Amino acid sequence: MRPGFGLKAIHLKILDTFDGGGASLPAAATTALFGRSLAELTEIVARLGQRPYRAAQLAEALYKQRVESLDAITTLPAELREQLQAEGYDIGHPQIVQSARSTDGTERYLMRMADGETVETVWMPDGDGGERGDGTQASDEEIAEEQQAAGQGSPSTYKRATICISSQVGCAVNCQFCLTAKLGIRRNLTAGEIAGQVAAVLNRHNVNLGSSRGNPTPARINLVFMGMGEPFLNYTGFIAAVHLLSGHMQIPDARMTVSTSGILPGILSYAAETVRPKLAVSLNASNDVVRESVMPITRKWNIAALMEALSQVRLRAKECVTFEYVLLGGINDQPQHVAELIALLKAPTAPIRSKVNLIVWNSGPSMPFHEPAPEAVKLFHASLLAAGIPTFTRRPRGRDIYAACGQLKRTLETPPPAQPASPLVSIAH
Ligand code: SF4
Repeated sequence: MRPGFGLKAIHLKILDTFDGGGASLPAAATTALFGRSLAELTEIVARLGQRPYRAAQLAEALYKQRVESLDAITTLPAELREQLQAEGYDIGHPQIVQSARSTDGTERYLMRMADGETVETVWMPDGDGGERGDGTQASDEEIAEEQQAAGQGSPSTYKRATICISSQVGCAVNCQFCLTAKLGIRRNLTAGEIAGQVAAVLNRHNVNLGSSRGNPTPARINLVFMGMGEPFLNYTGFIAAVHLLSGHMQIPDARMTVSTSGILPGILSYAAETVRPKLAVSLNASNDVVRESVMPITRKWNIAALMEALSQVRLRAKECVTFEYVLLGGINDQPQHVAELIALLKAPTAPIRSKVNLIVWNSGPSMPFHEPAPEAVKLFHASLLAAGIPTFTRRPRGRDIYAACGQLKRTLETPPPAQPASPLVSIAH
C-alpha cells in the first residue's frame, strides 16, 4: 500500500540483471525452510530422526545468521544437511533478479519468488522521513540525523535504513493513482516470502543487526509494509511475517509501519494484536465523494466507518496513527478540503493521537492528475499545523522511486518503446 506515486521524473540506474532470473521463469521446485516456525522446523528434524535442539540451530541459522544455502549451516551435521537437501528443502529467500538505484542512494529490487512471480522491495539508506513525529525512537533518529546534516547535532553512532516490503503480488484495491493497481491481484505472499525480502536485502547490504558479532554500531532497520499489495487483504501472511521479523529476526515491531487503504476487518484484527507495527492509513481525501473517485474501496467502507474502526485501536504511549494524504492538484488540495480534514481529525471519533503526512503529487504522462500548486501545499500544511495537527510534508528522497510501486516490474514485463541504448531507465509519472 503505497500512496505515493508521481513524483517528478527521475532516472533509475539499472545496477544489475541476473541471468536465469527472468521475471516470468519458474524456478526449480524446492521447499523453502525460511518462513517456518520453530515448531514446524522441529517437526521436520524429528521426521529425519534428529533431536529438537537441531531445529533451534536451524532457526538460528535461518533467521539470525540469514544463511543463503544449507551448506552454510555448519552447526548441523553434514548428514542432516544432505537429508534436508534430498527431501527437497532449501533456504528459499526471494531472489533479487534486477536492481536499480536512484541518485539519492535508494535502491529498488525486483524479487522473484520460487514460483516465478515477482514483487518489488525498496532499500532507503537513512530512512524515508515517514516516521517523523510519530513519537518513536525511529522518529527521534530522523530528527537527530537532520540536525546533524544541518550542522546542529553531534555525529550519530548508528546506521539507519528503511526497507519497504511487498505483501501481495499485485493488488486488488484499484486506487486510481497507483501503478500496482494496474497489475491486478495475482496472489498473496507467504510469511516467509514477506520476511524473506528483508533477509535478502539485509544480506545484499551486509547488514549486521546485532552487536553480538562484535559490531559496536548495530544497524537500525525500519520496515514499512508499503510496497505492492494491501497487507490487510493478506492478513494471515502479514501478521505471521511480523512475528517472524520481530521474534526470530529481532526487528522490533515499534520499528515497523503497516499502511492500509482502509480494510475494516483487517483494522479490527490488527487492533486486537499485542505484537503489531504502527499504523498508517492512506486517506487521500476529506470526504467520501472525493475519496471514492480516487479510492473506489470507499464504496465498501466509507470514511465514517474507517474512523470508527480506527477508534478500536488502543494506541501505545506516544504512538499515533499516521494519515497519508497525497495532494492531487484541484482534487483534494483546496481550502474546503483542509477544513473538512481538520474537522475529521478533531472529531470525537478520530484517533486520540494522529499526524498527517502530506505527499505532493507530481504530474506524469500516464496518470490523470495534476501537481498541486506550491502555495496550495503550503497553505494546506500551515492550516493543519494551525489547527494543532502534527503535519509533515514528505521530503522526496527515495519516494520518487518507490512511490511508483509496480513501475520497475512493469518496466521489465512491458518492454518500453525502442529507445537509444542507455544505462538509464526513465521513470516519469
Ligand atoms: S492499489 Fe493497492 S498497492 Fe496501490 S495504493 Fe491502493 S492499496 Fe496500495
